[in-house]
Amino acid sequence: MLTLDDLLARIDESRDETVSLLQALVRVPSVNTGVMPTGNETPACEVLRDKLAADGIAAEIMESAPNRGNLVARWRGSGEAPSLMLMGHVDVVPVEDESQWTHPPFSAEVADGRVWGRGSADMKSTVAAEAMAMIVLKRAGVALRGDLVLAAGADEEAGGAYGFGWLAEHHPDKIRADYAINEGGGRPLRGGSDLTYPINTGEKGRLEVTITVTGRGYHASAPWRADNAIYRAQPVLDRLAAYRPEVSADGDLFRYLGDALGLQERITTDNVDRFIADISERDVDLGSWLRAASRMTIVATMIRAGVKSNSVAETCRITCDVRTLPWQDERYVAAQLDAILAGLDGIRYDIVTTAIPSASAFDSPFASAVQRATCRALGRDDIRFFPGLTTGFTDSRLVRPLGTLAYGFAPSHPDSDPSKDGAHNVNESASIDDTMTQARTFVALAWDVLGPDS
Ligand SMILES: [Zn+2]
Repeated sequence: MLTLDDLLARIDESRDETVSLLQALVRVPSVNTGVMPTGNETPACEVLRDKLAADGIAAEIMESAPNRGNLVARWRGSGEAPSLMLMGHVDVVPVEDESQWTHPPFSAEVADGRVWGRGSADMKSTVAAEAMAMIVLKRAGVALRGDLVLAAGADEEAGGAYGFGWLAEHHPDKIRADYAINEGGGRPLRGGSDLTYPINTGEKGRLEVTITVTGRGYHASAPWRADNAIYRAQPVLDRLAAYRPEVSADGDLFRYLGDALGLQERITTDNVDRFIADISERDVDLGSWLRAASRMTIVATMIRAGVKSNSVAETCRITCDVRTLPWQDERYVAAQLDAILAGLDGIRYDIVTTAIPSASAFDSPFASAVQRATCRALGRDDIRFFPGLTTGFTDSRLVRPLGTLAYGFAPSHPDSDPSKDGAHNVNESASIDDTMTQARTFVALAWDVLGPDS
C-alpha cells in the first residue's frame, strides 16, 4: 500500500525535474509594471499547463486581459474531505539595472544550490513546488477524498485586479476551496533553541493617504504677500513624524509566540515594546517584524509642492503609506488622522484603501494539518509553530472573502538562509533545498487533508 514516505521519496527523486520546471518558469519574463499593457503571464501559465498535461492533469488558462493568464487546475476528489488549494502568482517585479545582476535575470542559471533569476524566490519556486506536489500525487495514483486545486494567478505584484481579484469576481467557483496555502510565511525564526515556524494567518492592510495643505501663492520676490504652503506643511510633517500609533499585542501572534519562544512572562500590550527591544538586540529582522505586527504604521513617502521656482507654492501635497492591523478599518485611520491634524487649518486629506487587511483563524483543523505535514516533511517532531502576520499583502486577502481559510506558508529548509533570496532586489535566487522542502510539505499536506483515511 502506498504511504506518505513513498510519496516523499518520489518528491526527492523529482529534484532535477522540479528545478527544470522552475527554470522554465523563470525564463518567461512575466514582468508586471502595474501599467497596462504588462504582465505577460500567459506563457508562464502555458509552461505549467503543458507540464500538468503530461501527467493527465487538465488545467484551464483564463485571461483577464490579453496575455494576462490565470491558470486553474482542479483535480476532483470524492467529496468526503475539505478541498485544498495550492495558490501562487506567476508575475514578477521589473528588473531595474540588468548590469548589476551576476546571472542574467531571466537566464535561470543554477549555481551554489540555487536557481537565479527574477521571480525565482517570489514566487515561481513555490509555484513549481506546488505543481510538482500535484504531479507526484497524480503519478502515484492517489485517490483524493477532496478536491486539490492549483491556482497560479496574474498581477499579484500590482494588487491582483487582473489576477485573483478578477478570478474572485468573475470565476469564484473555479477557485473556491475550504483551505488554501500561499506565499507569506514559513521562514523559521533564527536565534531560538528550537526550530520555530510562523504560519501566516493574516496580513496588514494598506491605504494611501494624501494630505493637501493649502496656502496662498504670490511672486517669490515679495514672499510676505503669500502664505507659503510648503511652510504650512511643516507642522503636518512634524506631527506625522512624532505620531505614536496605538500598540497592540492582543492578536494570536503574541500569545503563541511567547509559548514558542518558551517565555515565562506573557507578552501583553503593556510589555510588548520591552520584549521587542530585547529581541531586536539578538535579531534585528525579527524585532522589526514584530514591531510592524503590533501597530499601524503611517509614513510620508512623497511630497509635491509648487509649480515654479520663482512662485511661492499655493498647495503642498503629502502622500503617506499606511499599513493597518487586521482590525483597523478606514474609519480607524480617519480618526487617527483627525487627531494628528487637529487644530491645523487649510488642510484636507483623502484616503484610498489599496488592500484590505484580513485574517484567518489559527485554531483550526487546517492549522493542525499544516503542522503535522511540516513535521512529516522535515522528519522531526520537535518543531514549534505560531500564527504570523504578513506585513505586506498577498492574494490571500482576495480568497478569504470566498470563505477560504488561507495561510501564508512556504517553508524554507531549516538550514537555509532566507536573507539570500533577494526578492524584489538584484540577484534574486531561490534555494533548491527550500523549493524541495516546500514540495515535500505540500505533498504531506495534501496527503493529510485529502489522502486515504488512515
Ligand atoms: Zn509574491
